[in-house]
Amino acid sequence: MSAPERAEAFRRLREHMPGRTRDAKGPKDQPDPFRSVVSCLLSAQSRDVNTAAAVRALFALATTPDAMLRLPQEEIARAIKPCGLYNMKARSIHRLCAALIAEHGRVVPRTREGLMSLPGIGRKCADIVMSFAFDQDVIAVDTHVFRVCNRTGITRERTADRTAEALERTVPDWARHDGHFWLIQFGKSVCLSRRPRCETCFLADLCRWYAAVREAPDA
Ligand code: SF4
Repeated sequence: MSAPERAEAFRRLREHMPGRTRDAKGPKDQPDPFRSVVSCLLSAQSRDVNTAAAVRALFALATTPDAMLRLPQEEIARAIKPCGLYNMKARSIHRLCAALIAEHGRVVPRTREGLMSLPGIGRKCADIVMSFAFDQDVIAVDTHVFRVCNRTGITRERTADRTAEALERTVPDWARHDGHFWLIQFGKSVCLSRRPRCETCFLADLCRWYAAVREAPDA
């Protein structure tokens, strides 16, 4: 997609999608940085509702890196059971808390580099914490953002991390603060994973995927 087309796509997304909502669930609903980073770690391969239950149970036991590190891993694992992979995630939480205490003065770093230096925190989690806990203009790439960007041609990348890098290079400044929300809402309501609603889509004339489908011989 050319730069003017990309800007037009984001203009339409801004117009048609509501943007930030107050009822977000999961890591995105955690304005406290420590809670946000732990929540993100727990969200791997877990549905938002299960992640939220695990975060609630864990933070009922401890709310600081020191207090969490004092909990036996078995107790953490029991509390976070709803989000799956609980033994592995309990170990990661201990490592994360130890790193925050030893290397960051008990303060969650604000930079991507600092966040990604924490055990268990990759680019997606770092971007979510930067965007939601620190209100920075970053488009975090989850499964919906990845699908929409690479179907439409807003980006053309094979991985979520490369998509995030491409968005950072190419998205207009004014679209960075809420772009994540527009893309997610669009992915959940129009550009659905299995049956995208192309016939009524407001991006259809810009969309590379739709153009390819229409040009296919048996379309
Ligand atoms: S035209 Fe279809 S594939 Fe393209 S963005 Fe719209 S819904 Fe998604």
